[in-house]
Amino acid sequence: MLPYRTPCFNRAFGRLQSCVRCINYAAPDMYAVISDIHGNYEALEAVLRDMPEGVETVYCLGDVIGYGASPNECCDAVRKLEMPTITGNHDLAVTDLSTDLNWFNPVAAAAVMWTREQLSEENAEFLRSRPRMMQTREALFVHGSVRDPDEYIINSISAEENLAVLTEEYPNVPVCFYGHTHVKAVAPSPNGAMNGGHTLDLRSGGPYLVNPGSVGQPRDGDTFASYVLADGGQVVYRFVEYDIAQAQTRIRAAGLPNMLADRLAVGR
Ligand code: ZN
Repeated sequence: MLPYRTPCFNRAFGRLQSCVRCINYAAPDMYAVISDIHGNYEALEAVLRDMPEGVETVYCLGDVIGYGASPNECCDAVRKLEMPTITGNHDLAVTDLSTDLNWFNPVAAAAVMWTREQLSEENAEFLRSRPRMMQTREALFVHGSVRDPDEYIINSISAEENLAVLTEEYPNVPVCFYGHTHVKAVAPSPNGAMNGGHTLDLRSGGPYLVNPGSVGQPRDGDTFASYVLADGGQVVYRFVEYDIAQAQTRIRAAGLPNMLADRLAVGR
């Protein structure tokens, strides 16, 4: 493991001494991928504290805001740590006033309206001006799917279709990270659902679609925040407990719909 250090992480968040036991980071360029923070600063801070020293870059798959009560805090952290970030559909809905909110359910629309009033102009401009997808030597990063930023990859059919697009249009990319569903998933799945902290070997059987799950509003029945660590060869899930009660208190105090607080306790 190369002695990478990210001093700004330590300064900003007082990193806890954590280490990843189940993976050998022989390869350089360890990075983290997070998604769907949704204004939940308690969860974001816990995730950042959990990251090991060797993490060089944190990629964010979008939806930094919407739902949670701390949109500016989350956006400030993303900007301070210079995370390469995608504009998610909620980021766009909040910052592009021409967005048709009829596509959103009433609770999501209420959160968009509330967040519009809270978000600083600087943070709005930042989120509005991010790309809709990103690519590095090792990976593709999208919000919804390879072919459409608003598509939900929710079943094996949509996964297979997007794997075909990935293979066709990005033949040298071994993995595409996506979010939007708030559900941890890997396709094709090497050993059933990828939800138990498994390590995925990227050097065989790919290309893969990997959803790291949501930092700020998980919907797969797990209440912890999740993200992934990766390098050129492997991906591993990390599960992080955070102060759910505090996040709920802030949501209620903000006057946001109660349901947005309640769901954090059940991960739905
Ligand atoms: Zn989302």
